[in-house]
Amino acid sequence: MERTPAVAIAGAGIGGLTAALLLARAGFQVDLFERQPALTEAGAGIQLTPNAARVLDSLGLGKAIAARASTPRALIVRSGRSGRRIATMPLGENFERGFGLPYRTIHRADLQRILAEAAVAEAAIDLHLGATIAGFASHERGLTAIVETGGRDREIGPDALIGADGVGSDLRALIPGAAERRPSLRTAWRTLIPATDLPSGVPLDIVGLWLGSAGHVVHYPIRSGETLNVVAVIRDEPKPGRSDADVLWRRIGHWAKPILALLAAATDWQAWPISTVDPRGPWTDGRFALLGDAAHAMSPFIAQGGAMAIEDAAVLARRLAAQRHDPAAALAAYEAERRPRVRRVWRTAETTADLYHMGLLTGAVRNAGMRFLGGRALLNRYGWIYRWTPGG
Ligand SMILES: Cc1cc2nc3c(=O)[nH]c(=O)nc-3n(C[C@H](O)[C@H](O)[C@H](O)COP(=O)(O)OP(=O)(O)OC[C@H]3O[C@@H](n4cnc5c(N)ncnc54)[C@H](O)[C@@H]3O)c2cc1C
Repeated sequence: MERTPAVAIAGAGIGGLTAALLLARAGFQVDLFERQPALTEAGAGIQLTPNAARVLDSLGLGKAIAARASTPRALIVRSGRSGRRIATMPLGENFERGFGLPYRTIHRADLQRILAEAAVAEAAIDLHLGATIAGFASHERGLTAIVETGGRDREIGPDALIGADGVGSDLRALIPGAAERRPSLRTAWRTLIPATDLPSGVPLDIVGLWLGSAGHVVHYPIRSGETLNVVAVIRDEPKPGRSDADVLWRRIGHWAKPILALLAAATDWQAWPISTVDPRGPWTDGRFALLGDAAHAMSPFIAQGGAMAIEDAAVLARRLAAQRHDPAAALAAYEAERRPRVRRVWRTAETTADLYHMGLLTGAVRNAGMRFLGGRALLNRYGWIYRWTPGG
């Protein structure tokens, strides 16, 4: 009888969990290693666009996600200074008709729980918590990886090893010539505000986007409108974990009253320094491949980092299934298929960062241009991202 091919994955974030599920369904035995002793996600939201949702739907998770997610009716862009509306992008039925699936927002912990429960229920997946992939070596017989658990090391010999270990990936550095993590000098300040603590008039059925030269603010509902997820991205020296938000007020304290009142309702801010990984660096080395942020962490300005990790997982599983007897060739084909799209998305995130944080004069020109184009046309500029399907 033919042996079931085995894949080991480092990291049980959104990317690693999705890859584990897709590989298990494709007939692989999967060992999923997570260095944290428990699966925990940041107290924050995530926007789930159709390109990512299509993959999660293919795993039969659509219903569970829809039950926990919110479906905003529009994305409303405003000037941070004046509060004036610049554009309204329709995200409701029109969006679903145009792109095949709704635009959803969900708590990260809810998404991770849905993925983790599905993984635990899958007989072909062994989830190892508190277990770090500490390194690997390729040789003529294949690949050997070191698993470190509770201070003890052991060796495993999977047919393929996937590094889904996030932007701070230690495994990335083991690929000769790999790209390095680059700080962006921007910090995302994140908070969750219970709907009951919000000032009156804050809409709980839209994505709000406020633009200014010092930064921008995004807010959207999660948990069916029980909670508002708020992210303020400002130019800043990154200091991980910092929670005093004074710098936020110094940068945008002169903004319009409604957005300042909303921000003032927050009691607990978490700083998340943004860094990126250039997607042009190599992602694979023989039977080893990077996936998600480990390969190509991007600025969060178009809300696609997690979506790209999910897309990566779909292509990786399809390529490995198509070439089970030659994992190195399958991983090389995965990298070749993914890189052009990821590079385009990554660049779009960077140019959007420049667009959002334009100075006063150029910002006024941007606002006029956005008003002229209108919300529907602005949204359609991202259609190539949302229409992606996992079939290739
Ligand atoms: C402010 C902000 C807003 C964002 N908003 C969105 C959005 O709306 N939509 C979207 O799609 N994306 C968004 N993103 C991007 C998204 O959060 C990331 O792209 C996504 O979480 C990456 O997932 P991942 O699985 O690649 O990595 P991670 O989620 O970082 O998971 C990596 C995992 O690997 C584990 N690990 C690390 N090293 C090892 C090891 N050696 N062995 C075992 N385990 C290991 C870690 O503990 C971790 O659990 C946003 C990002 C930011 C900063």
